[in-house]
Amino acid sequence: MMKYDYVIVGSGIAGLYTALLAHEVGSVLIITKGSIDDCNTRHAQGGIAAPIGVNDSPELHFNDTIKAGDGLSDPEAAKILANEAPDRIYDLVRFGVPFDTMNGAIALTMEAAHSVPRILHAGGDATGAHIESTLSRCVREGRIQVLEYCLATDIVVRDGIVQAVKALDLRNGSLLDFECKNLILATGGAGNLFKYTTNPDVATGDGIPLAYKAGAELTDMEFYQFHPTGLRLPGVAPFLISEAVRGEGGILRNVEGYAFMKDYTPEGELAPRDVVARSILFEMRKTSSDRVFLDVTHLPAKLVTNRFPNIFKYCLDHGLDITKGLIPVAPAAHYMMGGVKTNTWGETNVAGLFAAGEVACTGVHGANRLASNSMLEVLIFSKRIIEKTQQKGVKNLPHQIPEIHSTLVQRTNSFNAPPVSLRALQDLMWQKVGIIRDGRGLLQAAQTLETWQKGLPDPTDRPSYELNNLVLTGRLVAEAALIREESRGAHYRSDFPQHSQDWEKHITFVRS
Ligand SMILES: Cc1cc2nc3c(=O)[nH]c(=O)nc-3n(C[C@H](O)[C@H](O)[C@H](O)COP(=O)(O)OP(=O)(O)OC[C@H]3O[C@@H](n4cnc5c(N)ncnc54)[C@H](O)[C@@H]3O)c2cc1C
Repeated sequence: MMKYDYVIVGSGIAGLYTALLAHEVGSVLIITKGSIDDCNTRHAQGGIAAPIGVNDSPELHFNDTIKAGDGLSDPEAAKILANEAPDRIYDLVRFGVPFDTMNGAIALTMEAAHSVPRILHAGGDATGAHIESTLSRCVREGRIQVLEYCLATDIVVRDGIVQAVKALDLRNGSLLDFECKNLILATGGAGNLFKYTTNPDVATGDGIPLAYKAGAELTDMEFYQFHPTGLRLPGVAPFLISEAVRGEGGILRNVEGYAFMKDYTPEGELAPRDVVARSILFEMRKTSSDRVFLDVTHLPAKLVTNRFPNIFKYCLDHGLDITKGLIPVAPAAHYMMGGVKTNTWGETNVAGLFAAGEVACTGVHGANRLASNSMLEVLIFSKRIIEKTQQKGVKNLPHQIPEIHSTLVQRTNSFNAPPVSLRALQDLMWQKVGIIRDGRGLLQAAQTLETWQKGLPDPTDRPSYELNNLVLTGRLVAEAALIREESRGAHYRSDFPQHSQDWEKHITFVRS
């Protein structure tokens, strides 16, 4: 059996970009559970943040990142992110990503909680699709080996060192083993934990249980970002109405047509995501409605169609001309801030195991991600992973924020849980572990998830692996949210609505 220098699980921006860098220094295999382009990355709209504008600087970008992280962003990681951003953007340009330009320079737009226009975009609002297709073309041209429809199921660790990854070939049901020196998890987020999400079906958090069972530490699991404006058209698949729409002047109105955001915060529509998401939820409750509206009808129609061609077309295809009518929206689960804990070189606590992209928790995002920092974070830390594997001596900087360690509590043997299904899990997570949480609901969720986890049969196919993975991931989110008795960033507890200085620390889980 061939032993690869690098096996990479996942083919979003993290998997593809890391593979392209790794290919320059060793043998590489990518395994991915769907087709190469089935991932969150393809759906990213708004863009990618980088301090390259004339009025911008790494210091400003660092400050905005730290502010959004609400006391839990790791300053060292955020500094690296802001300082190394221009070089990594140049890498994407070199690979051929066609960023939009204006007067011969890369065009930059504004997004919520950024202090200056800083967001690069491609194809207007199709940034992720352009990045994904460009990088996958480079992977194809570089003849990097990609195994599609191959689901990673287990990591083999011996004497604390990664040896191989086990996988299920979804085309014929055979079990495979891939030996490797370095295993890079790039498995993305877990939006399918929740009833409403902007994520495609593929986002089932698989990397979390893979890492957890291998003995890796997981951190910040309680921080799940809910995007304020998921399209809420009946019977229409999840679709995001980008932050940039509010950045360009879109106004949020309740079902009575009233522009309510300034009642909640002076920053109005451009407040951080968690503030806008909660404000919308409160307003929906106040007006007994399951939606609010985003209004761009006052903007020049040409600006709307040029700047948001993808959103315009998607809505038009579903019978809504957004230059003339209001867009029905409601919050939806969007981005997992927590994940597999890494240092600033993408290393986990298990030798040979790295994590990149949304599955990783590098410390950049803290309690809340600044819009458009996620794809940038991928580039920065993926590059550092490959550097680290090449220069064993590079220095590790410890995380600067304290943490408490926990294991999953054995709560009950006799909890009366309803039958488990994907739908039941998503309803439970949305109702009890969603945008507004409290101790009672979280405890009920944790007990239900524990009972489900114990009762689930061994998985045999993709849906059963994914359900197992979601149940364990959901349990980690619920348990972490129960432990954190305060509100901070994206984690809001109605029974502990204030910040607490005592909680300026991370909660880290490791298998007992
Ligand atoms: C609608 C939407 C809009 C967004 N807009 C922006 C934006 O404007 N700017 C921004 O910075 N970010 C944005 N984001 C977030 C950003 O797109 C993601 O965080 C980022 O693309 C994640 O990249 P990734 O490579 O880590 O994961 P993904 O792109 O999700 O890729 C994960 C890969 O892992 C594979 N995989 C998973 N489990 C397994 C397994 N068990 N075995 C094998 N393969 C597996 C999947 O098949 C997939 O190929 C957006 C996200 C969404 C959903």
